[in-house]
Amino acid sequence: MTLSLRSSARAVSATTLLVTLTATVEAQTPATPAAVSLARLECGTNQPPTDVGQRFSDTYAYNGLKVQLVYSCYVIRHGDDVLVWDTGFPKSNAPTSPKETIPELLGRLGLAAAQVKYVGLSHSHGDHIGQASLFPAATLLVGKGDWDVLSDAKITPNQASIAPWLSGGKVETLTGDKDVFGDGSVIILNMPGHTPGHRSLLVRLKGMGNVLLTGDLAHFHENYDSNGVPSFNTDRAATLASIDRFKQIAKNLKATVIIQHDQRDIAKLPLFPQMAK
Ligand SMILES: [Zn+2]
Repeated sequence: MTLSLRSSARAVSATTLLVTLTATVEAQTPATPAAVSLARLECGTNQPPTDVGQRFSDTYAYNGLKVQLVYSCYVIRHGDDVLVWDTGFPKSNAPTSPKETIPELLGRLGLAAAQVKYVGLSHSHGDHIGQASLFPAATLLVGKGDWDVLSDAKITPNQASIAPWLSGGKVETLTGDKDVFGDGSVIILNMPGHTPGHRSLLVRLKGMGNVLLTGDLAHFHENYDSNGVPSFNTDRAATLASIDRFKQIAKNLKATVIIQHDQRDIAKLPLFPQMAK
């Protein structure tokens, strides 16, 4: 009887060991990488071409140049999770108001606003944060330097856009780069200068390859090509250092560079509602 109990105990323990081993092997087998896709969302109504010589160079570089500026947000799908990058202007009566909200545009991609796990802001300016509050359950990812500006009511009296994160919403203030999904496919890049906590975004797509979204590191092609610094940037030296780093990343990763405010770059991605993969 004792013997039989012992051998049965041995059998159980062998089974347990086998189950444990199998579980360990399964845990070590890499999961299928999540599919990543990217689309541009129209996040404001374009005004007539801007005379960029006025404010966009502190060296009088673009005298008389007119550029059609646009307002862009982006959606990145990572498996079932969604990151919205920049949130444009809010829907309003203003001439710059987008005709459809980001949740409405997401609907046309078959995505629900509730799927948005992260809202990433390139920076704190009004044409990038206008619709953030439509995603109160999302984790807000923002450079610390810009969160410090936004969250200080003395500097930013109108805090409506970030209200959910001033009252308990989850906010992650970034001091360096941020690997959003932990697999290297979507990286928020530390690119200060336009504002103290300004960020750009790297998206590594399987088919299209690497894509770099500038934020407002540069506003238009001529600005990017000549390392131009707008007169309203907060830090000239930091801007130039960020442009240098950005261009080296673009070169090393053979990335497609998309300047978010330049109409000429819209066609670098498939036409909405198609997504780049
Ligand atoms: Zn902007």
